[in-house]
Amino acid sequence: MKTLLVSVSGIRGIIGNGLEPQTIVKYSKAFADFCDNKNIVVGRDSRITGEMVKNIVIGTLSASGANVFDIGIVPTPTVQFAVKKLNASGGIAISASHNPNEWNALKLLNSTGQFLTPEENKILIKLSEDQEKQNLYVSWDKIGKISIQTEALKWHKEAVLKLKYINLEQIRARKFKVVLDCVNGAGAWIMPELLRDFGCEVIEVNCEKNGIFPRLPEPLPENLIETMEIVKKHNPDLCIVVDPDVDRLVLIDENGEPFIEENTVALATDFVLSKEKGNVVVNLSTTRAVDDIAKKYGCQVFRTPVGEANVVKKMKEINAVIGGEGSGGVICPALHYGRDALVGTALVLQKLAEFGGKLGELKKTMPKYFITKRKIEIGTQNPDKIISTLADIYKNEKVNLEDGLRIDFDDHWVHFRKSNTEPIIRIIVESSNEKKSSELIEKYLNQIILMK
Ligand code: MG
Repeated sequence: MKTLLVSVSGIRGIIGNGLEPQTIVKYSKAFADFCDNKNIVVGRDSRITGEMVKNIVIGTLSASGANVFDIGIVPTPTVQFAVKKLNASGGIAISASHNPNEWNALKLLNSTGQFLTPEENKILIKLSEDQEKQNLYVSWDKIGKISIQTEALKWHKEAVLKLKYINLEQIRARKFKVVLDCVNGAGAWIMPELLRDFGCEVIEVNCEKNGIFPRLPEPLPENLIETMEIVKKHNPDLCIVVDPDVDRLVLIDENGEPFIEENTVALATDFVLSKEKGNVVVNLSTTRAVDDIAKKYGCQVFRTPVGEANVVKKMKEINAVIGGEGSGGVICPALHYGRDALVGTALVLQKLAEFGGKLGELKKTMPKYFITKRKIEIGTQNPDKIISTLADIYKNEKVNLEDGLRIDFDDHWVHFRKSNTEPIIRIIVESSNEKKSSELIEKYLNQIILMK
């Protein structure tokens, strides 16, 4: 089966089996039209199909009359940052994020460097289906200029070092020892250097610039067994793990225990609110720890459907000071409106510098929740029907239907949502007890299985 998924998170598919050159041309052309064929920033993660995809994207944009800034192998947040810096009309980050080697994707960004909104995405899809526009390219003397821009990583890194909450000297004085795992993704091009600028001793794991992910690249504990073993050998202050396009930041403590990805955004929230009180925005799948922390500072938490575009939209609306997604995505508007592991790293290091101890010790001071995430293959079944049946079963509880179904009970919450990229339903359960969370998730999984 060919795999191509077109959604607000981009145009994602398997190379040679869904995401073919003609598809890349189709959406690149539509995007050039979307940007009125002006200036477009293009960057990619390190995967080995990236150069091929990039050449097709850039060629198409230029043939459409758009000027291209090629910023090379960079994190997705660097593309976002560069769009703003270069005052471009849009950007394309070529990365299938946490998907394995065979995947790639075009992540499309508007002139503010943010993911296309659902409305903008509709316009783009319409443009991709407009045959007349699709066949309309410029003459030889009107093609767009392609310029190589090598400064983007530096701009991004320097802005992170100068972030208003950061006391560089205080962090440097701690001389943190950090194990860093970039899964050989774009992080290898920036994270070691960033950490060294923070005065850290860096132990590099999977920081080779070869573009092959040596393990499944999603930064989940089950994919990080080897990394956790390496941590145990080195006795660092903490371990930092990023996904291939460096928008997700996951930590491992000094004992080789997962810090739990949900805690990244909880920790960032605690830190930023300690400096500046204000609104917080996280998605509906994010830990309740964020609510507990915000309450401590007398601040309010707003929840949105999953997806960076949704979180950012709300953050701008209510002028939030911090936000993100439980999967390790920290959004700090003081720098830009995008999930950014570089920013996340800076906030974590500053927090640790102020705290004084190691990451595991800091974790003990945080709210204790156990989140369990599972997915269930539903094949050709209609995910909306499954979710509406569940909504009906729980209609007397506190339900939220903005993104699938979230039900809040006093002692736990559960969130069922279909994936935009795979034929699955994700189930997330959180309670304050590990055993209870696993029992509850089994119960909900069985409920879906019985519907088959
Ligand atoms: Mg990512």
